[in-house]
Amino acid sequence: VLDVQNAKKAFGDNEVLHDISFHVDQGEVVAIIGPSGSGKSTLLRCCTTLETLDGGSIYFGEDALVQATPSGGCAYSDRETQQRIRRRFGLVFQNFNLFPHFSVMQNLCDAPIHIAGIGREQAMAKATELLQKMGLADKADAYPCQLSGGQQQRVAIARALALDPEILFFDEPTSALDPELTGEILQVMRQLANEHMTMVVVTHEMIFARDVADRVIFMDKGFIVEEGDPRQVIDHPVQDRTKAFLKRTF
Ligand code: ATP
Ligand code: MG
Repeated sequence: VLDVQNAKKAFGDNEVLHDISFHVDQGEVVAIIGPSGSGKSTLLRCCTTLETLDGGSIYFGEDALVQATPSGGCAYSDRETQQRIRRRFGLVFQNFNLFPHFSVMQNLCDAPIHIAGIGREQAMAKATELLQKMGLADKADAYPCQLSGGQQQRVAIARALALDPEILFFDEPTSALDPELTGEILQVMRQLANEHMTMVVVTHEMIFARDVADRVIFMDKGFIVEEGDPRQVIDHPVQDRTKAFLKRTF
């Protein structure tokens, strides 16, 4: 579903991603862990067109978002291809990023109606179904400010699902939440994993990563240091940097 090859990104002199390569298969849950500043969010932002790469390639299925050029740089696809790619993924951030002046229902229907051109009734039916699934059937008319952080994040997940994405990206979806609200979000994500939703999850929740992810990637200073089965990477890391990070985290 997603293939990243030799991704490179710098902000001025600050080289944030050095030659990052990884892939995500259909139905797979990949957790990305690593210290603050290691480039996790930047990597996710590059995959989701919020940030541009300096070098390397990113493919979504057969569609190339960006392809490496012989000179070591990269060339982005035309606008149409990029738009098509944007429809293929959903994105959930740390801070929910709901439209504050829209009701929950409007938050869920906006993109399906205005971007995907789905009819209002069909969009609302789908939104109602997703709210039910998220345990928020009674919140369709509420505004984001009337909801708890955990409820807002579940709306954000429902919104990401409203366009039937092939892959969902999460950037620390629980780190803005109180510990008692974290569990409800992890539960929803667990359920999505059980339904074989393809997901890339940047997280500090090591227990979640170990129990739910099919694969864990440990990043440090813009490199993938270690990658593999969660039980291996989290319980029996091979690299010293992974060991040091996990010792601090647990
Ligand atoms: P955290 O766990 O704290 O979220 P992270 O692994 O997500 O960290 P990034 O946010 O990707 O790390 O940041 C990696 C590096 O890139 C940092 O040194 C950061 O200062 C730098 N950086 C990120 N975004 C920008 C930007 N828009 N402009 C300049 N530098 C940036
Ligand atoms: Mg981050």
